[in-house]
Amino acid sequence: MKDKAIKKIAMRKAGQSTSKIRVSAIAISKAGNVLGSASNRPRFNRFGGGMHAEMALLQKVGPGMATMIICRIGRGGAILPIEPCKSCRKTLDKLGIRVVSIQPEADNETPADSPQDS
Ligand SMILES: [Zn+2]
Repeated sequence: MKDKAIKKIAMRKAGQSTSKIRVSAIAISKAGNVLGSASNRPRFNRFGGGMHAEMALLQKVGPGMATMIICRIGRGGAILPIEPCKSCRKTLDKLGIRVVSIQPEADNETPADSPQDS
């Protein structure tokens, strides 16, 4: 499966999150196929109930994935930088799942003073 297609799924899934910080996670098999996707869930009270997208995905598709793609989008739908938290990272490391974050596209940025080599 193409990276572009995976990115599209990740962005759509993150958009479905009802959490303030909208994150999605996509499970990719060894062969590169999408096994499933999940978005994070907000905490509904101070005792929790929320779940990070990584853990929601694990619960959904199980540990049988080679790679987990994570994606965060902002209110306008643009991709924001994201890294898994320590707890999720530890769990995924233990399971031998590689985590890849989708990064904001460089060409979305318009640096006012982009350095130029002369
Ligand atoms: Zn986490």
